[in-house]
Amino acid sequence: MRTYTLSCFMCGQENSEDLTNTYCTACGGVLTVRYHGSSPAIQYPLETVATDELRTQPTELRKLHNLSRRYGIEIWGKLEYQNPSGCFKDRGSFIEVQKALELNRDAICLASTGNMAASVAMYACYYNIPCYVFVPENTAEGKLAQASIYNATVLRIKGDFSACEQLCKAFARSGNYYLAGDYVFREEGQKSVSYEILHQQEHDFDAVLVPVGCGTNFGAIHKGYHEALQAGLTKKIPALICVQPETSSPVVEGIFKREKVIKPSVTTMATAVAAADPIDFHKVQKGIEETDGRAFTVTESDILESLQEMAVSEGIFTEPACALPLAALKKEQRWFTGKRCLLMLTGTGLKDTGVVARNVLPSPVLPNDVAQVIDFIESGYPQLQRESFGKPRDTVLTQIRFSSDKQERFEDYLNRIGKKGKTLTPRETEAIQTLVFNDDSDLNFPLKVTDYTILMRKNGLVAASVLADMGGTELETSHEGVGPLDAVLGAMDKLTAVVFPVSLVDHALEVLSPGTNALVVASITLEHNGNQAQGKAASPDVIEAGLHAWIKAFAVLHKRYAQ
Ligand SMILES: *Cc1c(COP(=O)(O)O)cnc(C)c1O
Ligand SMILES: [Zn+2]
Repeated sequence: MRTYTLSCFMCGQENSEDLTNTYCTACGGVLTVRYHGSSPAIQYPLETVATDELRTQPTELRKLHNLSRRYGIEIWGKLEYQNPSGCFKDRGSFIEVQKALELNRDAICLASTGNMAASVAMYACYYNIPCYVFVPENTAEGKLAQASIYNATVLRIKGDFSACEQLCKAFARSGNYYLAGDYVFREEGQKSVSYEILHQQEHDFDAVLVPVGCGTNFGAIHKGYHEALQAGLTKKIPALICVQPETSSPVVEGIFKREKVIKPSVTTMATAVAAADPIDFHKVQKGIEETDGRAFTVTESDILESLQEMAVSEGIFTEPACALPLAALKKEQRWFTGKRCLLMLTGTGLKDTGVVARNVLPSPVLPNDVAQVIDFIESGYPQLQRESFGKPRDTVLTQIRFSSDKQERFEDYLNRIGKKGKTLTPRETEAIQTLVFNDDSDLNFPLKVTDYTILMRKNGLVAASVLADMGGTELETSHEGVGPLDAVLGAMDKLTAVVFPVSLVDHALEVLSPGTNALVVASITLEHNGNQAQGKAASPDVIEAGLHAWIKAFAVLHKRYAQ
């Protein structure tokens, strides 16, 4: 005898578990588990409830002291990123995998943008059931790595999450497979967080702030509180606050319109909540209505700012989705004043470090030399790195102070490039700053190129002539090659053959931006008597970049090995 019914959240119809664990067979609405009686112990829709051997401890409920002081609001965090896969989804994945085993399915399959794939793969692997994950082609590498290490069959699909979802549903019907996802049994697992909070808290919370994508977690938190209330474990349910990114907010929009909104597509840096068709919209709506909750949006720059603030103030590095609650609390400070607030911190920042990398000035590779390291620290660059997080780069880059010789080189670079009528993109400016930091300040340039010409020959070859000066001696040579750069570099080899012979080992070109006037960074490796050195230089002109890089590599070898 089952102690529960799978009933439709929309039409109330009872559904058979043998036929569906996703949508109502009568109306297509989402399902919910109704238990036949209330119980002080949490109830699960399983015949036998095994202990979760992977998640053996509750996640921490921590007062966030620095944020509380700063905003004059009592702020707590529920550190859900402490779950074993780094995300709250483990609570639901455990129950889904148990259910798949109970139903004797041959495998479990799901579509995911990353965290759910990692989490279900982990449990499926541990409990010995094959797992197929359908992910969009551009899924964060850290999340893919997790699914792979847990032996899931990773199916990267051309297209977005919706494409994966459709495909996975069809795949599920092709065999005796359990279709996992934001469905009714996941909700049953994820509701455990509310019981855990009630057990850990000393005083009731007034508001719980939740980052919302599909709305499943929000619905689960509400259901957990609701069942605990019925069982007499608490006297009140906190106001539940739904937070979404402005650019991905079908749920918030739907709350105000009082009907479900589906977007053609959504984009936000908080990829974990980028859901265009929020499956559990109606559960969120009910949760807000019944708890006198609210729905807020925040901007992308609010998200970045709160992401950094949480790390700097509380030592907590989460993924962007988890910055939504703090961002909302700051934006709607007046509404939250006087209330005990809990922020749901749903996932770790370590899976998607690209977000940080894209919003911080890169750390240049420094020479292995303490004087130059100190020089770098005093340049103000590290401080600027901290201050500029998430800010538009062009304004930031102009504030860097180099030591005087490096500043001269930097300006020299800018002048030369400016003469070619080019304005630099932020990425290009950074590349040049990195070059300047890396240049050896004591390097002399024994060889100076005074002129060069390039001629196209009839046979398709290119001829380059180079005129140079080395310690007062004038050198001149020419060389034919298959392209202009090839010809010039060949001429350079010949040019120095008598005075200090070097040979070209390797060269590489990196084009830093699209378009015809892009900055090119050339790297040239030269060899002299078995010793190698690399030179790097940048210019919008490929030949000049190559020539300067060659001259730098030459200067390094000459300094070290010429008597
Ligand atoms: C899945 C996820 C969410 C959103 O949960 P929904 O149930 O889709 O609303 C929020 N944060 C993180 C880190 C997630 O992985
Ligand atoms: Zn129905």
